[in-house]
Amino acid sequence: MRQSRLFGKTLREDPKDEVAANARLLERGGFVYKSMAGVYEYLPLGLRVLDRINAIIREEMNAIGGQEVFFAALQPKDRWEKSGRWKVLGEEVMYQFKDHSGRELGLASTHEEVAAEAAARSIYSYKDLPLFIYQIQVKFRDELRAKSGLMRGREFFMKDLYSFHADAADLERFYWKSADRAYRKIFTRCGLDAYLTEASGGTFTKEFTHEYQVLSGAGEDLIFYCANPACRYAQNREIATLQDGGRCPKCDDGKITMGKSIEVGNIFRLGTRYAEAMGLFYADKDGKKHPVVMGSYGIGPGRVMATVVETHRDERGIMWPDALAPYAAHLIALGADDSRARKEAEKIYAQMEKKGIAVLYDDRADKTAGERFADADLIGLPWRVVVSEKTMEKKGVEIKRRGDAKSRIVSAADVFKRIS
Ligand code: ATP
Ligand code: MG
Repeated sequence: MRQSRLFGKTLREDPKDEVAANARLLERGGFVYKSMAGVYEYLPLGLRVLDRINAIIREEMNAIGGQEVFFAALQPKDRWEKSGRWKVLGEEVMYQFKDHSGRELGLASTHEEVAAEAAARSIYSYKDLPLFIYQIQVKFRDELRAKSGLMRGREFFMKDLYSFHADAADLERFYWKSADRAYRKIFTRCGLDAYLTEASGGTFTKEFTHEYQVLSGAGEDLIFYCANPACRYAQNREIATLQDGGRCPKCDDGKITMGKSIEVGNIFRLGTRYAEAMGLFYADKDGKKHPVVMGSYGIGPGRVMATVVETHRDERGIMWPDALAPYAAHLIALGADDSRARKEAEKIYAQMEKKGIAVLYDDRADKTAGERFADADLIGLPWRVVVSEKTMEKKGVEIKRRGDAKSRIVSAADVFKRIS
């Protein structure tokens, strides 16, 4: 991609109305555009990051048997009255309104009712179970505190998986498989160190749920966690029986520490509540009817992106982990359009494209070197490659890892090897 053609320009100054670092950096870097409080539009750079996060999520969801669907955001009132949540959610977060014919509609803030009703159209017998369906879809919530940038949108993406089981034991097996296999892997692959944290059930269940919490000063949650890396037992403050500075009751060794954190994921055992409300029953071997046992499993891809920015940055900008970076390399050509360095950079750019190295090529001759280096640090791609008269004299190009203080001069062939 030629930066001179890239849709979305970097901004010199922080946007005035943003306090959260993730929003300031993502807007300044040209990843997203703020439409209004809690509503963000993704520009090409931001969408590339989001797509990479979603690709990781899809891989891990498919690996545990998930089948992808896409449910509607626009919902009729009667479906939500069956579960009794039209009123509850309406008072809390759900956008509800009338269409031109006077019909009451809402925008889904979550999809348990929708998933259960859809499953009822395809689950009849024990042979149809278990079943796992998921979507990566947009949710709407009338969030009061929309001050945390992409961490708390009023319109935001969620990956939500719903599992359907014949009994609680089967749900339990899948619940821990999703936790230990899929969720742990997703966050690690995204470069996040997430604590599996016991939390309250919220509007879903009276049992514990498990949240995935990433320690960060920008977090809106508080967790107590065991500092012993072999243990990592953690509880959300909302339900905590642990004490700051105390000894961990799980490993009887680590010190309990309190820290601000960001909830990037949440898994719930739902039991039979939604199945009963939505008419989701199956027949066992003897033809006897039972309500289906459900679980739900959420991740916010936009919040993951914001959390990565909060935890991977310095005073100059973002430092994307390799797995999420929108491009692997930022190639910068210094010098006028017809200069030797510029011609060499064009050649390297063409070769990188041919070799399948995702590269953002800064070919903007109207910007100073200082401005372009500042943009490269702000955008935060893992590798910076500079071609200039100076590097040409040394018969090479300058290569630097984002975050490293020192650069080095290497041959173009060496650059391809290192980056790929
Ligand atoms: P919070 O307590 O932060 O409001 P929640 O517990 O209500 O979040 P869930 O219903 O558990 O959220 O949603 C599942 C996941 O969706 C969350 O773990 C988070 O990653 C993401 N998410 C929830 N609300 C938002 C939001 N307003 N903006 C962006 N992502 C969100
Ligand atoms: Mg939650």
